[in-house]
Amino acid sequence: MHAIGGFRFAQPALHFRTLWTFLKVCPLLFLLVWLTPAIAAADTASMPAIAIIMDDIGYRHREDLEVIALPGALAVSILPHSPHADEMASLAAGAGKDVMLHLPMEPLQGEKNVALGPGALMLDMDRVGLMRTLNLALRSVPAAIGVNNHMGSLLTRDTQHMQWLMESLRIHGKFFVDSVTSHSSVAADVAQRKGVPNLRRDIFLDDDRGARNLQNNFQELISVARRKGSALAIGHPHPETIALLRTELPRLHSLGVRLVSVPQLLRMHSHDVETGTASAGVSAMRPTLH
Ligand SMILES: [Zn+2]
Repeated sequence: MHAIGGFRFAQPALHFRTLWTFLKVCPLLFLLVWLTPAIAAADTASMPAIAIIMDDIGYRHREDLEVIALPGALAVSILPHSPHADEMASLAAGAGKDVMLHLPMEPLQGEKNVALGPGALMLDMDRVGLMRTLNLALRSVPAAIGVNNHMGSLLTRDTQHMQWLMESLRIHGKFFVDSVTSHSSVAADVAQRKGVPNLRRDIFLDDDRGARNLQNNFQELISVARRKGSALAIGHPHPETIALLRTELPRLHSLGVRLVSVPQLLRMHSHDVETGTASAGVSAMRPTLH
């Protein structure tokens, strides 16, 4: 090093060495910067997947808005003829959420104290009555790309009514998610036979709204996804459920799972069926009134 007037300058050879080192490292840096997102994306794509449907939308304005403001590709399932159906469908679509029709179906006798709401499919309906009711319900939520059942512990056991329903859904081009409100539900099986894309609910997030139960259910959702490769949850617009999802959804990546939309999950399952790797049965079925 030369010292002139108190300043020190590096020798020219040192500049060349630094430049040479930089030029050697530069392509490596470039490669690293270029590859890192691709590696991260591949890493994410191989993670177990969860999808979440938020049911019973259309009656509780503030909670419904909070559901739509949650991050990620959730589906919102809107009750037919509900007071906020149009507004919520439009806001949900604008927020990148999938819209579904949450179709009421007759429950068992002991569960009838819970309001079914308008637009319900009932066991005493004939084919024409069922199709008319379904068509009106679909017309009240025109943005719906698929349907899942609200309640229905009685009707989803009935093969004939499920056949009429699935034949109609196939004509309308809608998929079906069996909420599994009865262990004896034949809905998903009939949908499968009728060629309607379908899924079954694995976990109810909020069958009991206690903090510990919500957390346990969420952990169970993650466990099922890790075990089966994917899992489908249903939640409701309760403040406790919204608070849970607000906390947990942004940290899914650190739990090693990814959130996918319901149509994405359907595509994954149809691929599994084609390649013969579909997991059989439904885990953690806990029939409730939802
Ligand atoms: Zn419901």
